[in-house]
Amino acid sequence: MHDLLPLRQYFDSGATRPYESRRRLLLRLRQLILDHEAEISAALYTDLRKSPEEAYGTEIGLVLSEISYCLKHLKSWMRPRRLSTNLLNWPSSSILYRDPLGVVLVIAPWNYPFQLALLPLMSALAAGNTVVLKPSELAPATAAVIEKILAGLDSEVRVINGEGSVVVPELIHSFHFDHIFFTGSVGVGRSIYQLAAERLIPVTLELGGKSPVVVEPDADLATTARRIVTGKFINAGQTCIAPDYLLVHAELKAPLLAKMKETIALFYGQGQELAKIINEKRWEVLVSYLQQGTILCGGEHDRSRLFIAPTLIEMTDLEVSLMKDEIFGPILPVVTYRTMEEALAIIRKNPNPLAFYLFTRDRSRQKAWMEALPFGGGCINNTDWHFTNPSLPFGGVGNSGMGAYHGKSGFDTFTHGKSVMRTPIWLDLDIKYPPFKGKMKWFKLFMR
Ligand code: NAD
Repeated sequence: MHDLLPLRQYFDSGATRPYESRRRLLLRLRQLILDHEAEISAALYTDLRKSPEEAYGTEIGLVLSEISYCLKHLKSWMRPRRLSTNLLNWPSSSILYRDPLGVVLVIAPWNYPFQLALLPLMSALAAGNTVVLKPSELAPATAAVIEKILAGLDSEVRVINGEGSVVVPELIHSFHFDHIFFTGSVGVGRSIYQLAAERLIPVTLELGGKSPVVVEPDADLATTARRIVTGKFINAGQTCIAPDYLLVHAELKAPLLAKMKETIALFYGQGQELAKIINEKRWEVLVSYLQQGTILCGGEHDRSRLFIAPTLIEMTDLEVSLMKDEIFGPILPVVTYRTMEEALAIIRKNPNPLAFYLFTRDRSRQKAWMEALPFGGGCINNTDWHFTNPSLPFGGVGNSGMGAYHGKSGFDTFTHGKSVMRTPIWLDLDIKYPPFKGKMKWFKLFMR
């Protein structure tokens, strides 16, 4: 059994509260990452065959820039905020303190095994908590580097590696966490929510789902093709916010598909820069999808390299698993639509996607689409990049999760807004004290 009591004791000692100690901790974390950059990059190559550029651009660099952003704003986020006070409570004043939660559990997935562990960890530390981090066992090289790096922060952080289905329930049963932050699949998210509910532990759930990309007839062909292809095939499609399937307007279908094929050949022609599928089990699931439509390009696969070429596949039957399950691989189903209603009906079969992408230059169409659908977040005329903007809270809605993080929203997630009213003693009106008989007119005057 893991002895997590020292994390609780360290939190209770108050050592994590001062701004200076949080700032020093973030600077140490940044330095540890910089000192081990080559090792992290090598681990990401081992686990997912990510190139050094992809490893930096989508993992290491993201964490470093989020730490810099946090260092820039932390002091102001921590400052107690004066809020207004209603007439009933005059002359009191109102203050909102941002209080750290305590000891939090962060559970990470394998697809971006470094940044999806380190970003929430960083926010939790900046918020003044101590953290137990459970990386994914499916990216073991990265999990080992994370454990090694964070051993340097042993008062504030414990990394616990192992099989999730064993380690996580054991942890939640044996220690009272103050918050659980989970990134992963809907099914596991549901079981973690249940475990947490028994103990009234609040949760943030960052889940997945089927994220559509819609292309309207007026979209710019070349940029649309480049942006969909990159957003879909980065990390071989194993990205929670990757466009899952393409809904293209009938008018633009032929030229867009031609442009996308050309773009795929240009970007990934020799299979270069394409990550591998995480394991054989997932590879087999993905290969089975290739039978479910007409392959327009790609489709080549090789078990020995856990490789699947970037694939466009035209769908006629929408009742197959490729159009029901989250794909999480380099296969992009293409569906044609003619009216917005038709496209909406298809999207609503998998409601509340984590991401939604729209390509159109028409502002009124943009407005109509933004109002028509609930979704976690997304982009207009782009894919995936909203994730990299720390000013935008990142999270799902409904089926795709609850709660958000990144930037200030991460700080808020890992703190409690403690509301306090301070009442002076120089005014103490009798109308606020019993007996209340005869005071109704005052209540009615102030409480309307
Ligand atoms: P997963 O749910 O299988 O695993 C996530 C974590 O939970 C891992 O650390 C794992 O060890 C642990 N775990 C596994 N089984 C468990 C169990 N029975 N009880 C408790 N913990 C358990 O997810 P994954 O396969 O690693 O990741 C892929 C999924 O994650 C996709 O659905 C994807 O969309 C989603 N995802 C979401 C985001 C997001 O930001 N919303 C980001 C990345 C991935």
